Amino acid sequence: MKMSPAGETRIWTTLDFDRDGKQHDWLRLPFSTDQSAYGVIPIPITCIRNGVGPTALLIAGNHGDEYEGQVALGKLARRLEPLDMRGRILILPALNYPAVVAGTPLPRRRRQSQSPVPGRGEWHSNPDDRPLCHLGSAFDG
Ligand SMILES: [Zn+2]
Repeated sequence: MKMSPAGETRIWTTLDFDRDGKQHDWLRLPFSTDQSAYGVIPIPITCIRNGVGPTALLIAGNHGDEYEGQVALGKLARRLEPLDMRGRILILPALNYPAVVAGTPLPRRRRQSQSPVPGRGEWHSNPDDRPLCHLGSAFDG
């Protein structure tokens, strides 16, 4: 598995998904705001690999107020070592990181005045371009 080349996703990371061992980093989802045109939404990720084998993708924190999966995957990311397994495991314990930090189901709403579309003030004025919609296309294979 590799990250999609530029143009297919705007999400980037320094992780080498083909390297053996345990790596912790962030997926960085570009997100321009009034504070920074070059802002990113960080999404924590752990990649654990030991040789050739299947890849498992484990995700929690799609909703920030559902804590069990976040805690379980955080513990797994810290405790699991490459020699405990074969293949690769990708662990994302806080997929919707802004909501996880806020402890709310969805990210806190931004000021409504920033959005010309009622109810679309959370992320972006274009509902098709809300950044968390890009997560599903970040991986291939
Ligand atoms: Zn949920």
